[in-house]
Amino acid sequence: MSIDLTNTQPIGIVGLGLIGGSLGLDFRAKGLSVIGVSRQEKTCKIALERGSVTVAGTDFSLLASAKVIFICTPISLIVPTIKKLIPYLKPETIITDVASVKEEIVTHIDPLWNNFIGGHPMAGTAEQGIESALKGLFKNAPYILTPTQKTSKESINTLTQLVQLLGSKLHFSTPTDHDQAVAWISHLPVMISASLIQSCLQENHLSILELGQKLASSGFKDTSRVGGGNPELGVMMAQHNRTALLHSLKEYKSTLEGIITLIEEKNWSGLDQILQNTKKQRSLYLK
Ligand code: NAP
Repeated sequence: MSIDLTNTQPIGIVGLGLIGGSLGLDFRAKGLSVIGVSRQEKTCKIALERGSVTVAGTDFSLLASAKVIFICTPISLIVPTIKKLIPYLKPETIITDVASVKEEIVTHIDPLWNNFIGGHPMAGTAEQGIESALKGLFKNAPYILTPTQKTSKESINTLTQLVQLLGSKLHFSTPTDHDQAVAWISHLPVMISASLIQSCLQENHLSILELGQKLASSGFKDTSRVGGGNPELGVMMAQHNRTALLHSLKEYKSTLEGIITLIEEKNWSGLDQILQNTKKQRSLYLK
C-alpha cells in the first residue's frame, strides 16, 4: 500500500523517552519532520543529537503546526499533559497516546478532543529515557488503536498509515477489551512472577533459601524475569488497570487453588489433563 505523507506531517511527540524517542527515530528515517517537546532541555538536546527530532524544546507552543501528536509521557501524566496541550492546538490536530492502559485515558480525553485515538505500541525494552531510544523498535510488534464511536474515519486512516510506516502489526479494539487483554498477558504475569520471587523468599531455613539461590537456573530465570523488573511500572499497571488486573488475578487464584486440590487429592490424571492442555495452548499466545 502506498502511503501519502503529505497530510500527516509534521509529527509532534511529547515525552522524548524510550517510546517517544524511538517513534521519532523511525518517523525521521521515513523522511517525516518531527517536533519534540519534553520536560528537560537536556533530553531535547540529546533527542536532536540522536536524530529523533527535527526541532525540540520544552514549550507546547512548538506543536501548534503539528498534524498528529503522540503523547509519550508516563501513564499518570498522559491526561494532564493533553489538557495542558489542547489550548495550543487547532481543532483538526489528531492526538494519540502510547500508554499501556487505555480505558481510563480514553474516558477522560474523548469528551475533550474530537480527534483523539488511544494507542498502544506493544514493544519496549527494560531501559528508560532518550538514550535508550532504538530505531526499528516497533517493527513486527503489535500496535493497538482504540477508536471510539466519536473517532472520524479520516483520523483512523491517518494513524493507520503512520503505524504501517513503523512496520507494526495493527490491531483495533475497544479500550476495555484492550485493558483486559493486556491484564492477562502483561500485567498478570508481572504479579505472578513477583509472587514467585516473594514466595521463594519466605523459606525460613537459611541453608535451604541459599541452596535454592545457588541452584536457580533457566526455569527460574524465565519465570522470574518480569517480576524482577521496574517496580514503578508494576505499581502503575495495578493503579491504572486495577479492575481488569483484579479480574485476572482472581481467576488465577481460583486456577491455582484447583491445582492445589488436585495435588492434595493425588489426582494425577486431573493434573495431567491441565498440563496437556497448557502445553498445547501455549503456542496460541506466541505465534
Ligand atoms: P521513559 O523512557 O521514562 O520516557 C518518558 C519521558 O516522558 C521522559 O523521557 C520524560 O522526559 C518525559 N516526561 C516526563 N514528564 C514529563 C512532562 N511532565 N512533560 C513532558 N515530558 C515529560 O518512558 P517510556 O518507557 O518511553 O514510557 C512512556 C509511555 O510509553 C508510558 O505511557 C508507557 O505506558 C508507554 N509504553 C511503554 C513501553 C515500555 O516498554 N517502556 C511499551 C509500550 C508503551 P524528560 O527526559 O524530558 O524528563
